[in-house]
Amino acid sequence: MPEQTRTGILIPQNYQPSAKALAGKTILVTGASDGIGRSAALSYAAHGATVVMLARNVEKLEAVYDQIEALGGPQPAAVPFDLSQDNEEAFISLAGVIEEQLGNLDGLLLNASILGQRRAIEQSAWNDWRDVMQLNVHSQFLTAKSLMPLLREAPRASIVFTSSGVGRAGKAYWGAYAVSKFATEGMMQVLADETENTSNIRVNCINPGATNTAMRRAAYPAEEPSSNLSPDAIMRSYLYLMDDASTGRTGCSFNAQ
Ligand code: NAP
Repeated sequence: MPEQTRTGILIPQNYQPSAKALAGKTILVTGASDGIGRSAALSYAAHGATVVMLARNVEKLEAVYDQIEALGGPQPAAVPFDLSQDNEEAFISLAGVIEEQLGNLDGLLLNASILGQRRAIEQSAWNDWRDVMQLNVHSQFLTAKSLMPLLREAPRASIVFTSSGVGRAGKAYWGAYAVSKFATEGMMQVLADETENTSNIRVNCINPGATNTAMRRAAYPAEEPSSNLSPDAIMRSYLYLMDDASTGRTGCSFNAQ
């Protein structure tokens, strides 16, 4: 596929996930306690996946856990974990726990991010810049790196990074967040190139587009929240990328809207 058609693409129009599209798969979702990650966890479980939900807020994770049980999905796993820690050993231990307790991993949705300050680069605080990069870039590297051995063992594995419109075209006052999303697109391309033709792992990005979540409301406080789609409304794209239907698609940056 020519490079220019690999960014900003939509999933096939006729894709309709079957009820058990993800049956037998184990999928780790970062940032599963709220927003888009929460919807993805619920949606993956509703389509038969065993979901490993990672975030910091235990109460919110437990609420998603209960919802998955109520809808009759496979028993999920809730993993309270702070992705912002600057400690590779913690990520290696995390991968060890997942391997020990679940035995396999077929999907990794790298979704957790923070917005940071919306300021001009000249006004940006170093601490904030570093925090955004730590979570939005470095934690994705550490998570993906530590889980690659497990993903390699799956018959077909999918890694999905989460991008943004401001990670494809620079925009004033989006500072570290925008730069972190450019890095995310870059990491996806590098990893996709490394794994293409040599493994079972496909690697793509998804840009959810404006979606009614806490992050969107923080970025646009004057906006009417209901003017944007709910996370549940964009789940078809998230399902497609974890479904074997997307086998063979790698190195692509999708738009959910
Ligand atoms: P959100 O509502 O703010 O949710 C963020 C999630 O990340 C929460 O579950 C949060 O859980 C988790 N998280 C934050 N810091 C963490 C940490 N240190 N360790 C572990 N988990 C952490 O965000 P969202 O709007 O759903 O965004 C999801 C993704 O879509 C992000 O990558 C975002 O950049 C991207 N995106 C969103 C929009 C939009 O309009 N919403 C547009 C473009 C791109 P805890 O607080 O429990 O840790």
